Amino acid sequence: MKNPLARLIGQLATGCAVLLVGTATLQAATVESMRLWAAPDHARLVFDLTAAAEANVFSLENPSRLVIDLDESQLNTDVSTLPLDGSAIAEVRTGVRDGGGLRVVLELNRDIEPRHFTLPPNDQYGHRLVVDLEYPGESAVENPIDPIEAMIRDQEMLAQRSAQAQLSGVEADVSTPTPAQPPVEVQPAQPHPQRDIIIAVDAGHGGEDPGAIGPSGTREKDVVLDIARRLAAEVNRTQGFKAVLIRDGDYYLGLRQRTQLAREQKADFFVSVHADAFTSPRPQGSSVYALSQRGATSETAQWLADSENRSDLIGGVDGSLSLRDKDQVLRGVLLDLTMTATLNDSLSIGGQVLEQLGRVNRLHKSRVEQAGFMVLKSPDIPSLLIEVGFISNPDEERRLRDPVHQQGLATAIFSGLRDHFQRNPPPASLLAWQRDNQRSPTGNEYRIQSGDTLSAIAIRHGVPVNQLKQANDLNGDVIRVGQVLRIPSS
Ligand SMILES: [Zn+2]
Repeated sequence: MKNPLARLIGQLATGCAVLLVGTATLQAATVESMRLWAAPDHARLVFDLTAAAEANVFSLENPSRLVIDLDESQLNTDVSTLPLDGSAIAEVRTGVRDGGGLRVVLELNRDIEPRHFTLPPNDQYGHRLVVDLEYPGESAVENPIDPIEAMIRDQEMLAQRSAQAQLSGVEADVSTPTPAQPPVEVQPAQPHPQRDIIIAVDAGHGGEDPGAIGPSGTREKDVVLDIARRLAAEVNRTQGFKAVLIRDGDYYLGLRQRTQLAREQKADFFVSVHADAFTSPRPQGSSVYALSQRGATSETAQWLADSENRSDLIGGVDGSLSLRDKDQVLRGVLLDLTMTATLNDSLSIGGQVLEQLGRVNRLHKSRVEQAGFMVLKSPDIPSLLIEVGFISNPDEERRLRDPVHQQGLATAIFSGLRDHFQRNPPPASLLAWQRDNQRSPTGNEYRIQSGDTLSAIAIRHGVPVNQLKQANDLNGDVIRVGQVLRIPSS
């Protein structure tokens, strides 16, 4: 009761004041449906309301419960049909509070941190109250990578950045040798890590965000999850590769949360799978998009980026990328370098993927398009967004549901990725090791990696150290990461 007049009337006649406030600020809301999604790191409960309503959410112990009170509201849905399996909720009870209003009690079977917010109507839903039950310490990815592997990747990434800084002649701490810090220490040889190349596979949309919907009701979120799972299986079947499925169920993840997960998982590459839609049923075919820093290459690309980015409004606020741990001066330089480097990688990988997709499907656009997709804005992971087809085209909608076609698309996407990484393997990867240990009959080149020594390189290529030094005009034993050595034929 903020209005002094209402307060005054309230003092005179309580019933009258409630009526005044009721009509002025609060409409009676009805809960028309409740929807629940269980993710590995949280459960999300959405209340669909006929009007905006404020909720009071609080926890109770012994037994552990979460109480959601909605003033002036009533229930018009059956809560017994909610799919509680795999969520933190053991049971849902509802009742009318003393003095009116709706009370929903969630009986919990694990520790949660509640969070709630309201959403205004959009083109698919009306007023909503969203209650998230977050599980402390859980990751949204089911099988996070091994911490030791994570460490190898961190070191590798720093070495790559320093090499990039050197190549572009940028003056930066990591690349400027000083007398106190020789460029690379002569270190004992370490075994090659032979690590897997990690592909983060993201199925677009999910949960209360169905994505585009086809003429016969096919939902984008469902078909892209099928294709993403097939793609992940294809990746995992191949030696030297490992997939991380960013979304593995029917739940929503914020757009930034998706790239953040890929970063946490030390992904070498991020691919987001979507299906296109248009207002006319005619357009069809696959398209591949990379991030654009300068704006979209076409109007369609801009329109599409807008509509994909809009889905983040559903997820509420989530985290953003941070480079806080890096030196302030270096930050801008590194970000700029990695952005340029990863965009080039993205375009190159995109080209390979597009070529492969062209073998199993019509192409909507014959080159890699660029647009400002929020989901691709990870500065250090090359990323692509693939629109596998038009769900708004009746024929393509049917094919997108077909397991054979889904598999064909997944195989094509992976073939493109594999082609790229076989040509450009990350230094510590199994693929790099395999490439470097295939000795070419004509002699070849070798790019120095962190931990290399001249003698180890010489032994690995079966060349005497002196010959190796001679071929490269080296006087001492000092070598730099990123330096390319000519390997003389022995
Ligand atoms: Zn989409």
